[in-house]
Amino acid sequence: MTLENLNIVPFVSVDHMMKIVLEIGVEETLGGIADYIEEDFKRWEFFDKTPRIASHSVEGVIELMPTSDGELYGFKYVNGHPKNMAEGFQTVTAFGVLSDVSNGYPVLLSEMTILTAFRTAATSALVAKYLAPKGADCMAIIGNGAQSEFQALGFKTMLGIKKLRLFDVDPAATEKCAANLVDKGFDVIQCKTPQEAVEGASVITTVTADKQFSTILTDNMVGSGVHINAVGGDCPGKTELHKDILTRSDIFVEFTPQTRIEGEIQQLSDDHPVIEMWEVMRGEKKGRRDNKQITLFDSVGFAIEDFSALRFIRDQLQRTGQYQNLDIIADPDDTRDLFGMVMRAKANL
Ligand code: NAD
Repeated sequence: MTLENLNIVPFVSVDHMMKIVLEIGVEETLGGIADYIEEDFKRWEFFDKTPRIASHSVEGVIELMPTSDGELYGFKYVNGHPKNMAEGFQTVTAFGVLSDVSNGYPVLLSEMTILTAFRTAATSALVAKYLAPKGADCMAIIGNGAQSEFQALGFKTMLGIKKLRLFDVDPAATEKCAANLVDKGFDVIQCKTPQEAVEGASVITTVTADKQFSTILTDNMVGSGVHINAVGGDCPGKTELHKDILTRSDIFVEFTPQTRIEGEIQQLSDDHPVIEMWEVMRGEKKGRRDNKQITLFDSVGFAIEDFSALRFIRDQLQRTGQYQNLDIIADPDDTRDLFGMVMRAKANL
């Protein structure tokens, strides 16, 4: 079956996804997805944009993230449940769909738990390319869970980060992260406190999971000239930075209406100025102005990034062959005889 058969939808399982990224290479996948995200952010006005549709519970959140560029439609289903980790489940799991706008037929169904980690790191590193201080080679990563190695490798690929200073409240997470990165070309230091982790780092990534306002970074920990990549605060009531850091920083976001609800800036008034990254990528607004400025990427994850990541994966299918065909679109011989098709299937029971 070819990818062009409308009734058969290519499905990328977790196993396929791992084989695709290993075949292409982890750093090449990060770079490739970042290129697709940059391309899509630069054609911002073509996209339908809406804050994601969230269903909150005491334990976490389940969200749908739709967008369309008029030719393709995409959405991601994703959850965020900080308590899952203690129960042996992922904090974040996801799958997604791309469809052809012209007839509404799906053209790809894919796992997105792994792909989300790639697209989040690709976005962070892409943004840092515009905002991080020149020559940055040392990054602190606070929160050494599922996303952390992807973040490290994204910043290595796109910024040349060579030194990592890791901290997690759970030393086993730091140990895991350091072990996974041992042969990846980093100089890794495992730190005992977040204060120790940020020492000498020109980029600070916070990627912790806690369903509440927490203070991972206090104002005194952030020196001038630093770029902060704040990834973990991505829900109403869930932030990582002390408010005083926000008022000292120039704040960059993906899509302002969503970030006002979910990002660090929920701590600020609704008219506090922020810059959307597509404006910086198109050269319409300045990113980093000087080496004293504190830049903050208030990352929450936006639907266009998932759309771009799905587009990237779809473009790898013919070459890698890593998909299976799914029979999820009913195709009666006579399009109006859906019932007849069901009845005729009796013969095969
Ligand atoms: P995870 O549960 O695998 O890892 C989180 C880590 O944070 C754990 O190791 C935990 O011990 C550590 N931690 C918790 N509180 C801490 C603290 N006070 N100081 C230091 N470490 C602390 O989760 P994950 O999949 O790595 O995701 C991390 C966060 O990133 C989640 O909140 C998730 O919702 C968010 N996320 C954001 C985006 C985005 O686009 N912005 C994308 C994916 C995930």
